[in-house]
Amino acid sequence: MSSKTRYKNLIRPNIADMAPYTPIVPFDVLSQRLGIPAENIIKLDANENPYGPSPRVYEALADETYYHIYPDPDSSSLRQALSEYIGVEATHIVAGHGADELIDLIIRLFIAPGDAVINCPPTFGMYRFDTELNGGSIIDIERKEDFSLDTEAVVDLASNNRNIKLVFITSPNNPDGGILGDACLQQLLQLPLIVVLDEAYIEFAGGSRANWVLEHENLIVLRTFSKWAGLAGLRVGYGIFPYWILSHLLKIKQPYNVNVAGAAAALASLSDVSRLQENVRQIVAERGRLYAALQAFDFLEPYPSEANFILSRVIRRDAAELKATLAERGILIRYFETPGLRNHVRISVGTPSQTSVLLEVLSTL
Ligand SMILES: *Cc1c(COP(=O)(O)O)cnc(C)c1O
Repeated sequence: MSSKTRYKNLIRPNIADMAPYTPIVPFDVLSQRLGIPAENIIKLDANENPYGPSPRVYEALADETYYHIYPDPDSSSLRQALSEYIGVEATHIVAGHGADELIDLIIRLFIAPGDAVINCPPTFGMYRFDTELNGGSIIDIERKEDFSLDTEAVVDLASNNRNIKLVFITSPNNPDGGILGDACLQQLLQLPLIVVLDEAYIEFAGGSRANWVLEHENLIVLRTFSKWAGLAGLRVGYGIFPYWILSHLLKIKQPYNVNVAGAAAALASLSDVSRLQENVRQIVAERGRLYAALQAFDFLEPYPSEANFILSRVIRRDAAELKATLAERGILIRYFETPGLRNHVRISVGTPSQTSVLLEVLSTL
């Protein structure tokens, strides 16, 4: 017996059976491969902020003197500043290494093997990933043709299945940018489970339901600095929790989950909200221009979006090919192979000049 076979069974079976993760090609590697300088690549595939962080972030990172000291496990100053930003007391807030970390923690907190999570695809992939990783099972309730939530189906299922503990809802939803209405959210909150409302893109839409957490013992709202504040690379997110959930969540959180640089950058961003909101306004204006322009192509059918990206159905053409052709020209967009999204592409909203280049190239295809 080779040593490999001898030890193979030691891997947890659900992980041994998992398909390997396909890593994204790093930006610099891609630039080399295409022979296009990194600064000329138009990266519209990951909903990142084309304006980057506030200039105060660079100052704060340069001025920070405590990189050799472990960070504050409670992220106290960050949570205090967040409390002022969102208008909910700091005692309801947990900061995370990106909202992604909080998704994983929430699932670990509620899901034991045999428990189930309702997922509403097409949507963000991490809910499924973390559920399966943690030994839970995913029950998919597909969104309707227009990507709105099939609330009735979720209610039917959740009312009749005691193993379901969580439902994840994204609003605005990734990848289509649609919003979950108040009435639907109210309906979900009547169910005997925890509703996790992922508001990663809410700054582009307005109307956060963060303060609903104060009125609902089964609602968690997730937010992040990655999109509106341009901090995707520093990994800072947060959640708003009813206190009874938060008290348990803190028991399982890694003590130093938010690092010194991330906390300093997030605080600097919160000291410069009006400038960052100006960037958000530009992105929202550009979203309008991009939407109208995409509609004019006879091979694209864009969906209205409240986020910083636009999903389009590709007709009479192959979406994978469209993505590949644009990539050769240094324009990166997102293409999905999942069943509910066959032949769709998602384009993040960039700067006006990035939009112009994209439209010019599209018009030659
Ligand atoms: C980008 C994104 C996140 C990830 O946020 P991080 O704070 O960068 O981990 C969470 N949810 C949705 C729907 C997203 O699109």
